[in-house]
Amino acid sequence: MRKQLLAFTAGFALLASSLPAAAQSPAIAQTRRQPTYETAAALRDKALTDTTAWDLTESLTTEIGPRLVGSPGMERAKDWAVKTFERLGFSNIKVEEFAKPSWTRGAESAVIVAPYDWSIAMVGLGGSVSTPTKGIEAEIVVFKAYADLLAAPEGSLKGKIAVVTAPMVRTMDGSGYGAAGIARRAGPSEAAKRGAVAYLVRSISTSDLRSPHTGGTSYVEGVAKIPAAAIGVPDAELLERLAAKGPVKIKLNMASSVDEKDVAWNISGDIVGSSKPDEVLVIGGHLDSWDVGTGAIDDASGIGITTAAAKLIGDLPRHPARTIRVVMWGSEERGGSSEAYAATHEAALGQFIVAGESDLGADAIYKIALPKGAVADPRMADLPALMAPLKVIVSREPAAFAGSDTEGLQAAGVPVMQLSQSALRYFDLHHSPDDTLDKIDPRQMQQNVAVWVSILWLIADSDIDLRTVGAPK
Ligand code: ZN
Ligand code: ZN
Repeated sequence: MRKQLLAFTAGFALLASSLPAAAQSPAIAQTRRQPTYETAAALRDKALTDTTAWDLTESLTTEIGPRLVGSPGMERAKDWAVKTFERLGFSNIKVEEFAKPSWTRGAESAVIVAPYDWSIAMVGLGGSVSTPTKGIEAEIVVFKAYADLLAAPEGSLKGKIAVVTAPMVRTMDGSGYGAAGIARRAGPSEAAKRGAVAYLVRSISTSDLRSPHTGGTSYVEGVAKIPAAAIGVPDAELLERLAAKGPVKIKLNMASSVDEKDVAWNISGDIVGSSKPDEVLVIGGHLDSWDVGTGAIDDASGIGITTAAAKLIGDLPRHPARTIRVVMWGSEERGGSSEAYAATHEAALGQFIVAGESDLGADAIYKIALPKGAVADPRMADLPALMAPLKVIVSREPAAFAGSDTEGLQAAGVPVMQLSQSALRYFDLHHSPDDTLDKIDPRQMQQNVAVWVSILWLIADSDIDLRTVGAPK
């Protein structure tokens, strides 16, 4: 997969910008630039050869490993985060603890017991309750669409295992995930309302391989909590075919435990602004991951990309006017870090200029969207020129969403920016045992850092007020 490199022209841009002006072709137009342009362009070009993002991602996935909230790995990751910020020259390093019940997977299996014996590729969903020790053995009812489950009458699944086999559609913007993911997030309670004793969902995945993809689920209060697991894509299709020919029975065994008194941490470090340090750009990725892989694309890469971009700026002899804060959010997969961060910083929300998150792997960014009105502002006029060599569109639509860890800030009125990465192969790997370092393409990762560092500099060294820039005059 490393062979799927994008043919960036960035190398050419790097070459051209390093030549003295007189050596450049007179056919290339000379244009007036904002004062921020030269530094942003130099940072962009430096990012294309910088290995910090890769090194951090390698370190986190290799030395720390999986980082499920409440696990020893997450505890080690907390210390890794603090040491990383210290080593890279960040200031104001903070470890902000918040209450977060943890969930730990136990032994689990799903076996077809009729019409013949066959072991299914399965993984329990995060938050799922256990089966009784002896397991649950029951006939299945297959729904090829989630809407078919919702259309099933009350009581129609009594004593059955409900199986939803709806596929996920591969899209560049990842919107297939939201559409398909509802079957994982809300399916167990919907099946339980209709009498089901357990729930299986086709992995929310664009791959056709058997590796099952986990992810969080949640239960509706007042509805029976039933065990819930994801199954491999080919296994789901097998169940569809088998169920069309006659009764199918499955035996499900799952054991998990919950610690209601556990905690998680949001960890942050600042590149302190040189003249307006109280105005803060909040960026980052999430430090936690699922337990089945090493959380390379989800989301060690987001930690690496945003930390590397801020560090490149921190290394400059003059910091930008405003502060750049990298937050390593501590509980995205199990939820809670967004709300905790917004609550902890409630009194300072007015100082947050913009928020953004990198949480869609490390494949190339193809589009950036800023808060309403920003793209038309003269202070952002150089953005398309900075982005052109990186093959990134500057969207004319305002950013609608930045990431699940910035939702709390966004809800409180903090403007957000969205740097959209290609999701074309992300959901082949996401939340599966195959979310590992080897899937990251170092060149595409550098392109991400180049985009982040450019936009960060433009905003951090300007006085643009992203809360009001789009408001009617
Ligand atoms: Zn994520
Ligand atoms: Zn995730």
